[in-house]
Amino acid sequence: MDKLVTYFEVLKWASSFLENNGKESYIAEYLILEYHEWCKTDLLLNLKAEMPVSEKHRLKKDLEKVVTNYPPQYLIGSCEFYGERFLVSEATLIPRPETEELVDLCLRENTNKPQIVVDIGTGSGVIALSLKKHRQNWQVRAVDLSLDALEIAKKNAVKLEEEIHFFYGSTLEPIDEEQIDIIISNPPYISDKEWDVMDESVRNFEPKLALFADNDGLAIYEKIAKEAVFKLSKTGKIYLEIGYKQGDAIQQMYQHYFPNKKVRLVKDIAGQDRIIIVS
Ligand code: GLN
Repeated sequence: MDKLVTYFEVLKWASSFLENNGKESYIAEYLILEYHEWCKTDLLLNLKAEMPVSEKHRLKKDLEKVVTNYPPQYLIGSCEFYGERFLVSEATLIPRPETEELVDLCLRENTNKPQIVVDIGTGSGVIALSLKKHRQNWQVRAVDLSLDALEIAKKNAVKLEEEIHFFYGSTLEPIDEEQIDIIISNPPYISDKEWDVMDESVRNFEPKLALFADNDGLAIYEKIAKEAVFKLSKTGKIYLEIGYKQGDAIQQMYQHYFPNKKVRLVKDIAGQDRIIIVS
């Protein structure tokens, strides 16, 4: 690699290094774009330019971690979500596109009228902050039971200049409010049984606290339901991201706890059951 000079040469080498190690070659390009906050055109314009030695070393070190299945987003320390850039760390899940669909649905169904909104298991704060950014009149609260995750979420709030109230604790326990208008969550929902089929990069590097739940992955949904019965306002709504096999079970569960509300099951763009809405 030391003999390679231009971005073009290094990129070519890096892509085949990844491919030879069974990884997707586009990760090399992703890393270079992220180092500079470049778009693809910027890279094209620089293909013949010389890559600084320090950058070559950084890339080499990063690629070696990528082939151990380490998520590239943790190497960069940030990623995009719903049009904004958020800090992430090993203490937080890497936000997924499915969660953007959850945020989008919640925004489409609810106006900017003042209301109390609680994001349970906020992680890096992507849900809470994206909602607040688009609905300035909402009072958004965010809960997590990882102090390290809350620290990242608070940094993201400063970065995006949005005011969110953060709470340390489990589900709705730290929220005294009894008139919550919207509860939203992408809680841990992976069951023990699914462990073996998970991607190694998820299994080895993403926080287990953010991923796993007892009782076939349903435990936290049930805890949220039980608490929400007392803390949701009469006209309140709940938006939940769910595992693609959990649709029927969670729909029934919420219909049981909220017999007077409508419980809808919504599919993601891939056609999988993904979101439950109680309204
Ligand atoms: N709310 C965060 C996200 O959607 C974290 C979710 C979690 O840790 N289970 O990315």
